[in-house]
Amino acid sequence: MAACIFCKIVKGDIPSFKLFESDKVLAFLDIQPLSKGHALVIPKHHGAKLVDIPDDSLTELLPVVKKLAVASGAENYNVLQNNGRLAHQEVDHVHFHMIPKPNETEGLGIGWPAT
Ligand code: AMP
Repeated sequence: MAACIFCKIVKGDIPSFKLFESDKVLAFLDIQPLSKGHALVIPKHHGAKLVDIPDDSLTELLPVVKKLAVASGAENYNVLQNNGRLAHQEVDHVHFHMIPKPNETEGLGIGWPAT
């Protein structure tokens, strides 16, 4: 979708710090991280909400979220996926947030990129 900022990231028209890429999935660092290592995992297929994404793309997303959680080294993290304005969705291209919740002894970022 031409106007979609995440589609532009998929095409390489907007720069991003890529963490993982496959045929159907892209993961990159959030530009306004809530914590160090805050990552976004998206299907390359454009769809605004979860229900818009084909199952074969959806099934590839969660393993990547898991991979990033492991690679972050964080023992504590949130995985979020917002749908619609009332649910605080700002970018209308499906994305999972993986937000590490570091404690003082964890060294985050060591595992990037999560290949
Ligand atoms: P949400 O509120 O769930 O739609 O979250 C959208 C997320 O996309 C926010 O955390 C933004 O910081 C993030 N974001 C917006 N534009 C970019 C960008 N160009 N690169 C990386 N992350 C972005």
